[in-house]
Amino acid sequence: MRRINLKKASVARVDTIRNINRQIVLNYVRERAPISRAEIAHETDLQRSTVSLIVDELKERDLVEEIEGESTGGRPPLLLRLRAAGPVAIGVDLAATKTVVAASDLAGHVLEQEEFPTDPSAEKVLDQIVSCVRKLIRKNRRSIEGIGISLPGIVDSVTGDARYVPFFRWRDWAVGQQLSAAVGLPVTVDNDANVAALAELWFGRPEVREVRDFIMVLVEEGLGTGIVFDGQVYHGEGGAAGEFGHMTIGTRAPVACASGSRECWEAFASERAALARYTKSSRSRKARQISFAQVIDRALAGEALARAVLGETAYYLGVGISNLIKGLSPQAVIVGGQIARAWPLIVEGLKNTVEENSLCRGLDTTRVIPSLLGEHPRLMGALSLVLASKFTSVETA
Ligand SMILES: [Zn+2]
Repeated sequence: MRRINLKKASVARVDTIRNINRQIVLNYVRERAPISRAEIAHETDLQRSTVSLIVDELKERDLVEEIEGESTGGRPPLLLRLRAAGPVAIGVDLAATKTVVAASDLAGHVLEQEEFPTDPSAEKVLDQIVSCVRKLIRKNRRSIEGIGISLPGIVDSVTGDARYVPFFRWRDWAVGQQLSAAVGLPVTVDNDANVAALAELWFGRPEVREVRDFIMVLVEEGLGTGIVFDGQVYHGEGGAAGEFGHMTIGTRAPVACASGSRECWEAFASERAALARYTKSSRSRKARQISFAQVIDRALAGEALARAVLGETAYYLGVGISNLIKGLSPQAVIVGGQIARAWPLIVEGLKNTVEENSLCRGLDTTRVIPSLLGEHPRLMGALSLVLASKFTSVETA
């Protein structure tokens, strides 16, 4: 059994087992498609008739569809896969510089997307999100079932309130309720590092999907962490868990963290920290307008300064990661954000730092790996808020 959300489980009823079996079958289709009913029955030890009954229900609920497989002589076998037709989820990635609104199908493929610069006024941002979402809903009548939002701050994912977004100094913004009231769809909101962790859990590489305990370290303007324990994102009281970006790892960092301190991990290992190092050491005045993506491009192209800057940033990344490993001993630490693109350049230094700093623990160290979700771990995460809930709670009709 995998990734079943125990918080949502009610006391054992007659149909509880059927719900669990339904989730198992759906998740077999999700991860092993195209797969036949017989293969699912064989792998799960469920009776063939039970599998067929469940598949019929899943088809009726538009979650799976049947396609013809390759014929080996006789009638071609019928194989199952997730329903590919049409968008079912909208994801909103609200970040410091821009906001992306996108629609995806059940398998997380982005079908349409729009973006705009993020306005410092929460009200204006909400208006823009509402108009993008309404457009998507109009175009895809009734097929969209929910909206997920990723925010760079502390979010109460139960109420959907942004409790504090440091970059914009937004406090207690009921963004989930307001968007839901405006567009008439359920809205789920979570912190950006948490949703990136969720995306990794559901849409990451196969070897990560088998991992039950890991920490996502999302390096961006700031630095956030998402903790996954036993296949679930750990939120903590009021959604404030995972603020390791503000653990103290030194003094006199190159920049201040979002809350103004120069001692926090974020102040040493975020994109802003790397950029500050670059502009400080560069003799060129143009360096002041450079973006972090450009620093990575230059490093990949062989520029010594850019490489040194990434190396130093990776060192501090490693110091923080080794602290997380000592405290939480996860199976893996995944590094996400643009810096993952420079992995071949930073991996050795990063791993050496982690190992040196973890030696006193006396245990082999945890795997540290880059995210493969590419440039959009937060958008994938926002979509996962809607999609993952479909895979974990298939209620009886
Ligand atoms: Zn801080």
